[in-house]
Amino acid sequence: MSTLPGRIGLVAPLSGILVPLERVPDPVFAQRTVGDGVSIDPTSCDVLAPAAGLVTLLHRAAHALAITTDEGLEILVHIGVDTIGLNGKGFTPRVRQGDRVVAGQALISFDADLIARSAPSLLTQVLVTNRERIRGMTVGTGLVEAGRSIILNVELAAAAPAEGTPASEATAVSADIRLPNRQGLHARPAAVLAAAAKTFRADIRLLRGADAANAKSVTAILLLATSPNDAIRVSATGPDAAAAVSALAELLASGSGESHAAGEGSPAVGPVPAAAAAIAPAGPTDPRKLTGVCASPGLALGKVAQVRRAVINVEEQGAGVERERAHLDAALARGRQQISVQKAVNSGAASRILDAHLELLADPELIDLAVAGLAGGRSAGYAWREAYSSYAERLEALASPLLRERAGDVRDVGSRVLGLLAGVTTAPLEFAPGSILIADELTPSETASLDAGRVVGLCTTGGGPTSHAAILARALGIPAVCGVDRAALELADGTPVLLDGTGGTLLEDPDETQVAAARVVIGRLRAQRKSEREAASEPAVTTDGHRIEIAANVGTAEEAVAAVAQGGEAVGLLRSELLFLDRDTAPDEREQADAYRAVATALGRARRLVIRTLDVGGDKPLPYLPLPPEQNPFLGLRGIRVSLERPDLLRSQLRAILKAAPLSDIHVMFPMIATLDELRAARRILDEEQRASGESVRVGVMIEVPSAALTAEHLAREVDFFSIGTNDLTQYTLAMDRGHPKLAPLADALHPAVLRLISLTVEAAHRHGKWVGVCGGIAAEPLAVPVLLGIGVDELSVPVPAIAAVKALVRRLSARDCRDLAREVAGLSTAGEVRARLAQFGREASPAAAAVRG
Ligand code: PEP
Ligand code: MG
Repeated sequence: MSTLPGRIGLVAPLSGILVPLERVPDPVFAQRTVGDGVSIDPTSCDVLAPAAGLVTLLHRAAHALAITTDEGLEILVHIGVDTIGLNGKGFTPRVRQGDRVVAGQALISFDADLIARSAPSLLTQVLVTNRERIRGMTVGTGLVEAGRSIILNVELAAAAPAEGTPASEATAVSADIRLPNRQGLHARPAAVLAAAAKTFRADIRLLRGADAANAKSVTAILLLATSPNDAIRVSATGPDAAAAVSALAELLASGSGESHAAGEGSPAVGPVPAAAAAIAPAGPTDPRKLTGVCASPGLALGKVAQVRRAVINVEEQGAGVERERAHLDAALARGRQQISVQKAVNSGAASRILDAHLELLADPELIDLAVAGLAGGRSAGYAWREAYSSYAERLEALASPLLRERAGDVRDVGSRVLGLLAGVTTAPLEFAPGSILIADELTPSETASLDAGRVVGLCTTGGGPTSHAAILARALGIPAVCGVDRAALELADGTPVLLDGTGGTLLEDPDETQVAAARVVIGRLRAQRKSEREAASEPAVTTDGHRIEIAANVGTAEEAVAAVAQGGEAVGLLRSELLFLDRDTAPDEREQADAYRAVATALGRARRLVIRTLDVGGDKPLPYLPLPPEQNPFLGLRGIRVSLERPDLLRSQLRAILKAAPLSDIHVMFPMIATLDELRAARRILDEEQRASGESVRVGVMIEVPSAALTAEHLAREVDFFSIGTNDLTQYTLAMDRGHPKLAPLADALHPAVLRLISLTVEAAHRHGKWVGVCGGIAAEPLAVPVLLGIGVDELSVPVPAIAAVKALVRRLSARDCRDLAREVAGLSTAGEVRARLAQFGREASPAAAAVRG
């Protein structure tokens, strides 16, 4: 502490980064209700005394302590946000209340890992709580060192005000009020109460038995060390005593600003690390910050590694058709061999990409095109490049973003063979540890050959969230940004960068503060993911005992195995169409039955397997199922309408599904049902096949068309369950194409209209005793989970990597709060308003899990 007459310099109680109070994710601190000062994002774990004085408060939960200096300044140190709920776990006091301490003396030690995993934030507040003692204050910035740096320079007011001398002697006392606050009057309610008390002139005391506390002093209220249900009386003496007693008694009874006092204070894991705010003081106009879109969430610090590829030149003229043909065949064979070798050391998403490449190298149409190009004396290299380039261009011209992105596979595998023809070796990409790769686009095989131990992030100027780079990054759990500004390609190799996958930005040359803050965030995210994974097999039960099922959306048996391993309690959506896509003929009944049996076996008899029947058309055309050209494919033959148009396909699929029925708890689900007639027509076919096979399954429909939601009452009578496909429900409700580059971001599933349809569906289903799942993208959106829970959804079906995080999020919520939230949100009028309210709820009750991976 440095002291000049009338001034006190407070030393940093912790090392770390100073963060303005406005950034603390708790309004009571952010709005300075408790007091004025600063917050520290800590990198050390021993809290030192910011000044010499008397320890006038050591909270029983040991997360907060106050020192009163000889000058009468009351300094509160509050470790973390919402840490009172830890009830002392993770905190070790080094002093006792009443001790006299010197500046820099150790006060409390804490377990940063434990607290980071259990509380919304580790930000530690250093506050002067008796503001009347301050005339002015200067606040430090940047990195500080515990016990050395001065963080606050406080200019003292001329004299301490006389303690609440009443202007007249009128006295009033309230009846006993039972404290509804689960944690008693901790910092937040104490601050609210003190702020309210200060608006009266009377001297106001809180009385508990023989104990009394000045109601205008936060520290005094904390010192009262109240517990839930304590009987408190308010007593006031002064001109406005009666009004003060009545107002404060009412405030105390209502929870002193804690909306659901009994439900609050539960520890909430903090997936939105407060330090995130400190990372990006660079505004959107900062030239160092390049923006793109989120392809895989997370944060990475690393060095730029530009992906450079050899330019492959080929001669146009060849050495005769026969020799060139042999040359081409040899290169194709060598390409296939290379891919097979690569496949042997890869699994999961990477292996599937390589499988697709093997298919392409055997594609007769592509090979015929290249062979035709040899005529006229062209070289194999020239003809091959023409063939695969025109193939890729055709794909790029298609409307579906999914298919457009497959053009990348064709170019990728094409240039592999071209390299072989030209004698240019395309060695696997090698990078230094800690590399953040930058490329116009990463080819799928480059992505598949990445060493995840060395590459910590991906950033491409092209591609989209469904590109292979994005899929793989999500599978590897590393952040990725797509569609970033092309200036990224100009960054020199080795430039330090900060990649924010969640926010979709790349920051060049982050400063010291940003780096330190990012490290804190990365550490916390890692700790959070670890603890989520450890608890993945536990059920998702809210703090007040409401259980919700967390299921997985899968496409293959391999993914079903992963879903079970990662805590999935069921498969809420098997996208059976994956079996039908990317091939020339439909899979026959046997192939389908094998595939369904494999998924059923992975789940076992006890877990539910919801198999969605073929959902094609619209953005998912099948080459062997030519549908007539349509003006509006999304409003044409899609989903169940295709199956009703081709009942042979539906029958064979249902027969295959019924063959797997003895292996698991199989449910059949019809997609894109818009009318009861469609459901009845599909059911008739299912009933016939069930009778023929002697097997039976449960039946449900996807609710993804507004008409289905609006007539859910009628549908509910004839099905066993609903699953809400919010991706399509949103596009059809808002009339916005879900793949449209401009409209897709506006097609918000949290629009009040969509939420209303979800509510109608749930209400109708529950009236008939049927359960409802949500399998669209919002089921894994941290912001949306509380409101879905509040609406009464029974199951959330999410991508496999999101299971553990969604479960962890549910465990932090109270179903009662969620129901209140859903009711409140139902009255809002725009998606923006809904998001703002949900974000606020996330901050207050359970921080939004921004890092939930989808
Ligand atoms: C949906 O529409 O929300 C859904 C889950 O189906 P898909 O995304 O496969 O159309
Ligand atoms: Mg859909």
